[in-house]
Amino acid sequence: MLLEQKRSLVTGGAGFLGTHLCRLLLDQGHEVLCADNFSTGTRRNIEDLLDNRRFELFRHNVTFPLFVEVDEIYNLACPASPVHYQFDPVQTTKTSVSGAINMLGLAKRLKVRILQASTSEVYGDPAVHPQTEDYWGNVNPIGSRSCYDEGKRCAETLFFDYRRQHGLSIKVARIFNTYGPNMRPDDGRVVSNFICQALLGKDITIFGEGLQTRSFCYVTDLIDGLDRLMNSPEEIAGPLNIGNPNEFTIRELAEKILAITGSKSEIVARPLPEDDPRQRQPDIALAEKLLCWRPAVELDEGLRYTIAYFETFLREHGKSAASSTLIPRMR
Ligand code: NAD
Ligand code: UDP
Repeated sequence: MLLEQKRSLVTGGAGFLGTHLCRLLLDQGHEVLCADNFSTGTRRNIEDLLDNRRFELFRHNVTFPLFVEVDEIYNLACPASPVHYQFDPVQTTKTSVSGAINMLGLAKRLKVRILQASTSEVYGDPAVHPQTEDYWGNVNPIGSRSCYDEGKRCAETLFFDYRRQHGLSIKVARIFNTYGPNMRPDDGRVVSNFICQALLGKDITIFGEGLQTRSFCYVTDLIDGLDRLMNSPEEIAGPLNIGNPNEFTIRELAEKILAITGSKSEIVARPLPEDDPRQRQPDIALAEKLLCWRPAVELDEGLRYTIAYFETFLREHGKSAASSTLIPRMR
C-alpha cells in the first residue's frame, strides 16, 4: 500500500544495485529520477523501465552540480568493481568526494533526506573480525585501492559534517560484497567472473591462494536493507553494516560455482592484487536491532538465481559479451 508518493533521485541508477533500487521504488509507487554517466552502468539494465511514466533517466556526472526537485536522494554513483575503480582512479576519488559534496548540497537546498552507499572497504584490510561499525579500519592511503577506499571514507566524513553543521537528514550504509542479476559479465568482480568463466568453460581465475574470505549478500536482501535504512527514524544515521555475515573463502566460492554449474573449468592461480583484504565479514547486529533486517537468501540459492541470469544473458547477447572477464592491472 502506498502511503506517500515520493520523487526519489537515484544516482548511479543504471548500475548493478541502482537498477534493483529503481525497480523497488517504482514498485512502491514512487517517481524515480535516475542520474547516471554510464561509465559502468548500462541502459540495457533499465530498458524495460523507460516506458514507465514515473521513471526518468538522464545522463549526468555527479562531479558536477545537479539542479532537480526531489523528496529524497540515494547516492549510489561510483564504480564498485576494483578493475573499474582503478581504471581512472582520479575520477573515482572525484566521484566519491565531489559527488558527495554536490549531492549533499542538493539535499541541503531541498531539505531532504540523503542516503550514501558506503562500503566495507572503509575497513580496509581489517584487523578486527567480524567488522563492527565502531572499528575505524586499516586502510592504505596511497595504494591502488585507495582512490575508492579513501574516497568513500571522505564521503562518510562529509555526510556526518553536513549532519552536524547543517542538520541534514543522512543515512550511511556500509555495503558488503553483493551479487546477483544485472551485474555486468565483464564487471570484474569475483562472482560474475567465476560464473561466466564456469559457463564458458574457461579457467577460473583465483587470485593468490584463494584463502582470503568474503561474505556475499544477495541483491534483493541488500536493497531491502537500503530501503529500511532510508525509511528509518531520523535519529538512525548509521553507519550501518548491510551484508550477509556468512563467510566463505574465495576457493570455496569457486568450488560452489563449479558444483552448481557442473562446469569442467579448471581452477588456476593468478597473482594476488595489491592490498587485497584478507578477510571480510559484517557484524550486522546493529542493522538487526535498528532496522529489524537480516538477509534471507543463502549463498547457494542466490548463486543459482545469478547463474540462471547469466545463462540467459549469454544465450541472448552472445558469448562475446563476456569474452574478457577482467582482472586487475598489476604494478
Ligand atoms: P556499478 O558500477 O554497477 O554501478 C555504479 C553506477 O554509478 C554505474 O551505473 C555508473 O555508470 C555510475 N557512475 C559512476 N560514476 C559516476 C559519476 N561520476 N556520475 C554519475 N554516475 C556515475 O556498482 P554497484 O555495485 O551498483 O555499486 C553501487 C554503489 O554501491 C557504489 O557507490 C558502490 O561503491 C556501492 N557498493 C557496492 C557494493 C557491491 O558489492 N555491489 C559493495 C559496497 C559498496
Ligand atoms: N578475485 C579472484 N578472482 C577473480 C576476481 C576476484 O580471486 O577473478 C578475488 C579478489 O582478489 C578478492 C575477492 O575475489 O580477494 C573479491 O574480489 P572482488 O573484486 O569481487 O571484490 P573486493 O571485495 O575485493 O572489492
